[in-house]
Amino acid sequence: MNAMFDLTGKVAVVTGANTGIGQAIALALAEAGADIAAVGRSPCDETVAAVQALGRKAVFVAADLSSIAPVGDIVEQTVAELGGLDILVNNAGIIRRADSVDFTEADWDAVIDTNLKSVFFLCQAAGKHMIRQGRGKIINIASMLTFQGGIRVPSYTASKSGVGGLTKLLANEWSAKGVNVNAIAPGYIATNNTTALRDDEDRNAAILARIPAARWGKPSDLGGAAVFLASSASDYVDGHILAVDGGWLAR
Ligand code: NDP
Repeated sequence: MNAMFDLTGKVAVVTGANTGIGQAIALALAEAGADIAAVGRSPCDETVAAVQALGRKAVFVAADLSSIAPVGDIVEQTVAELGGLDILVNNAGIIRRADSVDFTEADWDAVIDTNLKSVFFLCQAAGKHMIRQGRGKIINIASMLTFQGGIRVPSYTASKSGVGGLTKLLANEWSAKGVNVNAIAPGYIATNNTTALRDDEDRNAAILARIPAARWGKPSDLGGAAVFLASSASDYVDGHILAVDGGWLAR
């Protein structure tokens, strides 16, 4: 492995690490050498076992990120159990679908609280630690709806646009303090989140017809971008939103 991508001795927090994109990113970071704090409201046994099988340390940190209550504990527990915190991946997220004219306050608050408010306050908690140590890497999982409007997902679009804006703001504030803040915008990735879209034959065909790569992304397709943004290879990359979308935004 090229030394600039080597994460040996680094500790990464990954939220929503039990499944999907979060699990794949945790494994990619571990393959590059990082120890992993797998954060989830559901147990992350499979992820922890897979990271340990790679010879890295892994711990499960239980946290429900629908409120910001656990953010301080996530940082504290990670530092106490793994000896540091160098990388934060804000991956946990939810989506609610309904026409904007019918959209409820509950669906607005649920998505904004998890996808935006918790992301900011976990950045804040981890950022304080990283600024004190003079280095750190934060990767926020954004979306194509950071750039586009979408349809019938108003709180999701607002949350992911917000994540893009916050990524740039935090990069402005923290870059000179040694903390790189960037985002990854996944395209259509085959996870639990998108099962309903894939199961709808017409919708699935329309999606595939519009993706230049002509296939759904796999969670593991996000691994390379995550390792890049977590490693010293990206030390002069700040406030960037890296699309990993099979060319969707290029169309
Ligand atoms: P999944 O539904 O497979 O995974 C979502 C993860 O977030 C799960 O681990 C889930 O835990 C966790 N999570 C949700 N709510 C909370 C909460 N309150 N507290 C703690 N963890 C929570 O989806 P993906 O892997 O597809 O999505 C991961 C990220 O990627 C999300 O931010 C999503 O918006 C984004 N994304 C996904 C795309 C796709 O096409 N799949 C496209 C663009 C962006 P649990 O299993 O317990 O529910």
